[in-house]
Amino acid sequence: MPQLLADITAAVAPLVGQGRVADYIPSLGRVPAARFGMAVAMADGPVYGTGDWQQAFSIQSISKVFSLALVMSHDYDSIWKRVSREPSGTPFNSLVQLEADRGIPRNPFINAGALVVTDRLLTLTGDAASSVAGLLRTEAGNPSLGIDATVAASEAEHGHRNSSMAHLLASYGNLENPVEKVLEHYFNQCALEMSCEDLALASRFLARNGVGSNGTVFLTPAQSKRVNAVMLTCGTYDAAGEFAYRVGLPGKSGVGGGIIAIVPGKCSIAVWSPALGPNGNSVAGVAALDEFTTRTGWSVF
Ligand code: GLN
Repeated sequence: MPQLLADITAAVAPLVGQGRVADYIPSLGRVPAARFGMAVAMADGPVYGTGDWQQAFSIQSISKVFSLALVMSHDYDSIWKRVSREPSGTPFNSLVQLEADRGIPRNPFINAGALVVTDRLLTLTGDAASSVAGLLRTEAGNPSLGIDATVAASEAEHGHRNSSMAHLLASYGNLENPVEKVLEHYFNQCALEMSCEDLALASRFLARNGVGSNGTVFLTPAQSKRVNAVMLTCGTYDAAGEFAYRVGLPGKSGVGGGIIAIVPGKCSIAVWSPALGPNGNSVAGVAALDEFTTRTGWSVF
């Protein structure tokens, strides 16, 4: 594995820095583009890493996997009355689609769907962002991981589109909590800072049929299968088809440049490189995952 990771790092080196660092959230735009890290956590074994794999970054939409998993762990299936699970084929922050779908977001990983999931988690736990942070700390075994308050404030300050989406959801009766509160928890969960090492460990339960780091059942095997399925079809937005074609794994990206991917039964992977392609997915990150599955043959296909 260490040699494989070194080979992948060398193969994607020409792509690192290609694309654009997300700057619609100004404090994300200040992250240097020329960074690359990758970590692989074996389902029942060690974690391997390369490059900037221990450097923390903003997980952004990767948090949506963990909020969905938490809601499903509390509430099994009821969330699906309020959110669909079809690929969107539109950008992650589309307002037009939410209007066309009459307030039922296309899936839980576009922003509108994630706002509904966060709203549900808020009702279930009283503190959605802290629940997500708590799960991540436990699974990553890193009690010090937390929220970058500057990023959260920057998102709130420049969050007109997310606010519009939350108000539109409320106008359709699809929020249980006040818009401002849902947005605050959503921005905070997106502003969690983690390294590739943390993220590979934190997502490992999805490679272990839902069994968490302490050996207890966090999700049932059926729930774990379903979260992975939604990641495969919806985790990289309107590039989900291209991601499935190239990588062949359930994956979830964030505009901080991170991506997690799951090889069920084998390992969980996290990559990070901040420069994004046009759909908001890390260019070098997708290429590294493509190299990984192509070289190992570890894919769901
Ligand atoms: N916090 C970001 C937003 O709401 C998350 C988007 C993403 O990572 N794709 O715009």
